[in-house]
Amino acid sequence: MNGVDKLAYYSWIDKIGWIVVTEVEKREIVRPIILQISISILLIGLIAVLIAWALSTSLSKRFIVPLIELKKRVNAIIAGDCKYGSAYEYPNNEIGAIATYIEKLAENELYDRNIELQNINKKLELLSTTDQLTKLLNRHKMNSELEKEWKRATRYGNIFSIIIFDIDWFKKINDTYGHQAGDSVLYEIAGLAKKTLRSTDIIGRWGGEEFLVLCPEIDSNEAKALACKLCSAVENYRFTVNTTVTISAGLCEFGEQKSIESIIKSADEKLYEAKRQGRNTVVG
Ligand code: GH3
Ligand code: MG
Ligand code: MG
Repeated sequence: MNGVDKLAYYSWIDKIGWIVVTEVEKREIVRPIILQISISILLIGLIAVLIAWALSTSLSKRFIVPLIELKKRVNAIIAGDCKYGSAYEYPNNEIGAIATYIEKLAENELYDRNIELQNINKKLELLSTTDQLTKLLNRHKMNSELEKEWKRATRYGNIFSIIIFDIDWFKKINDTYGHQAGDSVLYEIAGLAKKTLRSTDIIGRWGGEEFLVLCPEIDSNEAKALACKLCSAVENYRFTVNTTVTISAGLCEFGEQKSIESIIKSADEKLYEAKRQGRNTVVG
């Protein structure tokens, strides 16, 4: 049909016995058909593009973006940042469920780490405030306890006393029975003192074989009675080293002296007075 430009249509008219030939230009027929086909192709293409766009938007919102967020979250946890949080809200699908599990795991990890840290802090605090041999408070901690009590007494007009006691002839115990035996005497005296004192009293190792007791709410008379009780408890205690051990004590009441330094100095002087008086005695 190449080269044909016109198309003809024949129709027979019975009544008059004629044949009518209708001649039509070929392009007049073909053009609207091509136009119709082009519009259809265009429409189909447009619909396909729209469907693809809708699909990719939904896919991105439901899967791709959540996956990217999840990757960031997991990376943060791996880097040790369990607290890393984002305002992003995961969709209610499988990825959202995985994200929730990961959050729970991170929370548990954070909780475990906090507990671990708290335990380490407690151990450090204990180490920094405890005397390793006697397990009593160390001098540093005793100083802060003294300061606390002094502030309370100054502000509210409370009273308190301190007792400083020292083991008599301790060097001789070391020289006779050995340093380890001396250590065990120190340890046993610490335990004995804790048992003898009131639960409100605070005792610490003040120096080598010297101890300080902080007695809140008691005056020098009551402190003297307590120190005497301590002296006889030590004198009557059967030490592992199997020798009699005695202590001497000096004490001072807050009020007699105003500053912490002068209270300690006064108790110290009385301790030396007790030593001068022959030891195994209390001066207050
Ligand atoms: P005084 O009655 O005058 O207090 O005489 P003392 O012998 O107890 O006192 P001195 O100051 O002469 O000796 C104290 C001794 O305590 C000397 C030191 O080696 C000993 N010492 C100090 N710390 C420790 C310790 O942690 N363990 C032992 N085993 N001995 C210690
Ligand atoms: Mg001594
Ligand atoms: Mg001493």
